Amino acid sequence: MPGFELFGDKERKEVQDVMDSGVLMRYGFDAMRNGHWKAKELETALEERMQSKYAHAISSGTAALTVALASAGIGAGDEVIMPTFTFVASFESILALGAVPVLVDIDDTLTLKPEAVEKAITSKTKVVMPVHMCGSMANLDALKAICDNHDLLLLEDACQAIGGTYDGKPLGSIGDLGCFSFDYVKTITCGEGGAVITKNESYYQNAHKYSDHGHDHIGNNRGAEDHPFLGYNFRISEMNAAVGVAQLSRLDEFIAIQKRNYTILREALSSIPELVFRTVPDGGEENYSFLNFFLPSEDIAQKAHQALTDHGVDGCFYWYNNNWHYYKKWEHLTEMKSLGNLPKDVKESLPDYSKADFSESDKWMSRNISCLIKLGWSEEEVTVRADKMVEAIKASL
Ligand SMILES: *Cc1c(COP(=O)(O)O)cnc(C)c1O
Repeated sequence: MPGFELFGDKERKEVQDVMDSGVLMRYGFDAMRNGHWKAKELETALEERMQSKYAHAISSGTAALTVALASAGIGAGDEVIMPTFTFVASFESILALGAVPVLVDIDDTLTLKPEAVEKAITSKTKVVMPVHMCGSMANLDALKAICDNHDLLLLEDACQAIGGTYDGKPLGSIGDLGCFSFDYVKTITCGEGGAVITKNESYYQNAHKYSDHGHDHIGNNRGAEDHPFLGYNFRISEMNAAVGVAQLSRLDEFIAIQKRNYTILREALSSIPELVFRTVPDGGEENYSFLNFFLPSEDIAQKAHQALTDHGVDGCFYWYNNNWHYYKKWEHLTEMKSLGNLPKDVKESLPDYSKADFSESDKWMSRNISCLIKLGWSEEEVTVRADKMVEAIKASL
């Protein structure tokens, strides 16, 4: 990834269709659009590819998370369990609804630790939101069992793992709701975009209405539509959806390239006994967008990260020090730096994250290095990269 590396004729043709009709809006303008409904086409393709009854395309992955939660009736005071390692969008989408993000430790899968989830459940918990970080998944069997036992919703954030599978099923399709992002740096990109998938008809009906001001989308006259409930504008444009249609049709091609590149690097790194790869739960298959591994100590991981840069190996991340993906740098959340007043429920219920103990997460994150797998690399480039990586890491031990 990212998918933009391989933009080509398919993407151009889809965008040209939209420009030729001039209809950049996903609803209405039936006579003008020459039969082009790119957002709908994207949704149908997603339903098929993700083996999901319903898909709703949307303006971003962050919007997808908000809409997914809203569609299931999550609101003020409800608690949503999420991991310490994710993108800031996880808590933003929860806070946007006046709900409370409850951070929970990760384990060596780099995703939610099921035992920690179980411990964090209270009478206000409504949703467990695993985030399939860097192309691989949470232990979904264990999380599903917890959700079933406690009558909670399972919402999969599959924004970074599109195309990965668990027990043969596409990631995102296993929980009650699943979310994807098609932002500019994701495996499938359309500039800005995202999607919610679900098997639940009422969540789907709520999702498409909520993301278009509560319009009911009944009949052809937009001005005559009813508003069964309050909503917002999280619509995807036809331009973005058109790029998404082309990119999604290439998902299997992209995953195959990522898998080839990933496998070359992984085989080379396997020669280092001190290096341990991230655990992928039984029955899971990554989408190969990142190669993740642990080194024996924080010190060695930091040294290795620096050595990789010094050896000219770009695209390797030490997330432990990263501003966007780990709770340690989320001062805006932990210090509640909101522009206006936060809802009362959030102020009263948000745990004091400045005092929280996430030493289990620290233990894994401080030793983790995560290397982006690019689509544009030739086999020869990957082989050269593999040699440099082995050299850099060995020199750091
Ligand atoms: C990218 C991402 C999002 C948000 O997607 P946007 O389309 O950028 O809003 C949410 N969760 C995860 C894990 C992501 O990586």
